[in-house]
Amino acid sequence: MTMIAANLQDVRARLAAACQAAGRAPGAVQLLAVSKTFGPEAVVQAFDAGQRAFGENYIQEAVQKIAVLRHLPLEWHCIGPIQSNKTRLVAENFDWVHTVDQFKTATRLNEQRPAALSPLQVCIQVNIDQGLNKSGVEPHDALTLALQVARLPRLRLRGLMCIPEPCADFAAALAVHTRVKTLMDQLNAKGLSLDTLSLGMSDDLEAAVSAGSTLVRVGTAIFGKR
Ligand SMILES: *Cc1c(COP(=O)(O)O)cnc(C)c1O
Repeated sequence: MTMIAANLQDVRARLAAACQAAGRAPGAVQLLAVSKTFGPEAVVQAFDAGQRAFGENYIQEAVQKIAVLRHLPLEWHCIGPIQSNKTRLVAENFDWVHTVDQFKTATRLNEQRPAALSPLQVCIQVNIDQGLNKSGVEPHDALTLALQVARLPRLRLRGLMCIPEPCADFAAALAVHTRVKTLMDQLNAKGLSLDTLSLGMSDDLEAAVSAGSTLVRVGTAIFGKR
């Protein structure tokens, strides 16, 4: 078995245990394998071990990988910051984007999504802990942005994404992750129908699952140190 296959087994076991501990159904949380900085051969190893959904941060790097691996039935998620001059590449190459935090970006993605493809699946990134210089809409602006994005026909708004600052312990991580879950519940109470909470990485996936994450983004624990 390859190292990547063994790591995937471990991460799936961690996820299953976290779901059980949280009283959630096994399989309630999707695993996104974050393959940034790793080459196509690493993605193929994960694919051979059953992984289908991959996350990438650097758009140019991702587009090359996506092209090389076009023959495989993979699902690609953009989880990195999107400059205006990169929206077309995102719209044309990815299935999901987790990092929309401005209406301007959303309108460009909507205009540039090719008609032949299904709508681009979108999460709005939220800056839940007031991290300086951090991407993400402020929580009090999330409803306005979500209502605007939900109206764009070539996008399908699915949920919220967050990258909280690292926390000292489980309780602190659970508290901050729960703030994102609460925000999603509040948006749904205002008439949105968000079903995706993109929350949790290698070091904090247990706390994220406990808070209600439906999708964890795991890089290091699968592919090793970058
Ligand atoms: C790199 C990255 C991850 C994966 O982080 P690990 O700690 O390696 O699991 C998840 N989400 C985002 C947005 C990232 O940039």
